[in-house]
Amino acid sequence: MDLQLFDTYTRTIRKFEPLHPPEVGLYTCGPTVYDYAHIGNLRTYIFEDFLRRVLDWNHYPVKHVLNITDVGHLVSDADEGEDKMEKGSARTGKSAWEIAEFYTVAFQKDMERLNILPPTIWCRATDHIQEQIEAIKCIEEKGFTYRTSDGIYFDTAKMPDYGYLGRLDIEGLQAGMRIDMGEKHNPTDFALWKFSPKDKQRQMEWDSPWGKGFPGWHIECSAMSAKYLGPFFDIHCGGEDHITVHHPNEIAQNEACYGTHLANFWMHGYFLQLGDEKMAKSDGGFIRLDTVIDHGFDPLVYRFFCLGALYRAKLSFSWEGLDSAATSLNRLRNAVFEWGSAGATPDASFVGQFESAINDDLNMPRALAVTWDLVHSNLDPSTKKATILIFDKVLGLGLADWQPKIEEIPAEIMELVEKRKLARQEKRWADADTIRTEIANLGFEVEDSPQGPKVKTRK
Ligand code: AMP
Ligand code: ZN
Repeated sequence: MDLQLFDTYTRTIRKFEPLHPPEVGLYTCGPTVYDYAHIGNLRTYIFEDFLRRVLDWNHYPVKHVLNITDVGHLVSDADEGEDKMEKGSARTGKSAWEIAEFYTVAFQKDMERLNILPPTIWCRATDHIQEQIEAIKCIEEKGFTYRTSDGIYFDTAKMPDYGYLGRLDIEGLQAGMRIDMGEKHNPTDFALWKFSPKDKQRQMEWDSPWGKGFPGWHIECSAMSAKYLGPFFDIHCGGEDHITVHHPNEIAQNEACYGTHLANFWMHGYFLQLGDEKMAKSDGGFIRLDTVIDHGFDPLVYRFFCLGALYRAKLSFSWEGLDSAATSLNRLRNAVFEWGSAGATPDASFVGQFESAINDDLNMPRALAVTWDLVHSNLDPSTKKATILIFDKVLGLGLADWQPKIEEIPAEIMELVEKRKLARQEKRWADADTIRTEIANLGFEVEDSPQGPKVKTRK
C-alpha cells in the first residue's frame, strides 16, 4: 500500500512521493532550550519519530534536520516580552549560553531514553546567525520589510496568501487587535531582527546591517532548512500550535525570498492535555520524563502510551492511563521474550496488515491492534518473533533486547519456600498455607508450577 499522509496545508490526505526520489528531506521544529522538555513536547517528537521510521519502512532514506532554538524566542509568540533564554538565565543565575547547553543535553538524553532516532543534522540557531542575516537581507531586497524603533519587521500585508496554512481570518484579526499593535503595521507582522535594548546589555547579540541585536524566532527555521534541505523540501513538522503563527511566518519568509512554497507536506502533532488544558512549559508545574521515571515507570511506557492515540487527536494524560500502558507493555514484552529466538521468515499477511495501518497516515493504534492480533494468533513462536521484530522497527519499543529482571530473592524467603515445599510433599496443607501467608507478609509471592514453586516480589 502507498504511503498516505495528512497535509495540513491542503487539509487533505495525500499520497506521499519524494520530490527527489529516493531521498526525503524532513525538517522538524526543535525545542526552545530554556527549560526541560515536558512530556507534551516529547509527544510531538515521538510522533515525528514514528513518521521518520515509517519513511524508513517505505525505503526512503531520510535526511532529518532538527533545530535547537537557543535565541530569539520571546515570551509571547507575537514578538513581545523578554527572550526566553535571557529569562531562563535570570531564573537560574547561569548564563544564557550555559542554559542553552544544559537543556540541549537534557533534551538529547530524553530522546535517547524514548528511543527517538537522532536527526541526521542538529542545528543551533546561534551557529547560523550569518545565514539568518543573509535571509533577512534577501527578504528586504524583495521589498517585504520595514523598520520600527525596535527592529526589522515582515510586512504580511504584502503577501497575498499570508496565513493560508492556519486559515487565518486576517480582517478579523485586524479589527480585533488594532490597539496592541505598537509600531507594527499589521497585527500579523513579525520581527525578523530585533535591536538590543539601549538600556540593557544582552548576553546574546550580534552586529548586523541594521544594528546590534538578534534574529527573530521564525527566521532560523527558514534559513537553516534552506541551507540543509533547499528552499523547497518534502515534509515540515511541528506541534499544532505552529499552524497559526510560526509556520505561516516561515512560509511567508520563504515565499518572499526564494519564491517557493517551503514544504510539500505540512504535518502537525496534536497536544498532550492535562484535563482540558494543554500542557505548557510556561505553566511551571509540568510533567517531565524524569517525573515519569521517578514514579517508577520505564520511559518506554510513555512511548507506548503515545502509540495508543492518533497523532492528529489530542491525548489526555493521566497516571491511571500510564499505569495501564505499563501493564500492556509488560504483557507484550513477556510474550515476545517467551517466544525464544526468531525464525527466518516473518508472516507476510501480518506484515501486510501492519503496513496498511502505518501507511494510512500513521495509524499507530491500528498498528498496535495488529500487533496484539499477532500475539494472540496461533502462528508458531519463531514466526511470531520474526514478525514482531520487523514491526518494532517502527514501534521502537526495544523488543529484541528486553529481558525480564532477575529478582534477588533473600535467603530467608528461600528457606520458607523450601519449608513450604516440604509441607506440601507431606500433605500438611494447613502448614503450607501458613507459610505462604508468612512469605506474603514479607512482600513475596509463591506460585506453584509443574517445574516447582516460583517466587516473585508482590507489586
Ligand atoms: P518549544 O520547546 O516550546 O518550542 O516546543 C517544542 C515542540 O513541542 C513544538 O513543536 C511545540 O509545538 C510542541 N508542543 C508544545 N506543547 C505541546 C503539548 N502540550 N503537546 C504536544 N506538543 C507540544
Ligand atoms: Zn520552526
